Amino acid sequence: MKYRWVDNNSDVRIAAVDLETGVIEINRQNWNQFSPFEKKYILLHEEGHYKLQTDSEIQADLYAINRVAGIEPKSLKKSIDTLYKVGILDETRIYELYKNALK
Ligand SMILES: [Zn+2]
Repeated sequence: MKYRWVDNNSDVRIAAVDLETGVIEINRQNWNQFSPFEKKYILLHEEGHYKLQTDSEIQADLYAINRVAGIEPKSLKKSIDTLYKVGILDETRIYELYKNALK
């Protein structure tokens, strides 16, 4: 994956991937509020959109969590905390993370 810094004058609030090029644009002003885990989760989520070639937020979340589960302590809780911190209050996305963890 390639990365590119963008500023608040772009329409990228935190991070976004171009599905054709795989370039992840990261908002320089908003990035440092996140912990190392949160940054990792966000980048894996964007990578998931690209690798799976999907717009689905749930598929990208599952891609990300399956790459931190069992490696990062408390990965489920921290992943869900990341979604809340990013401002995602979509219950379906949270539910799918729990369901995936309980498989
Ligand atoms: Zn996404």
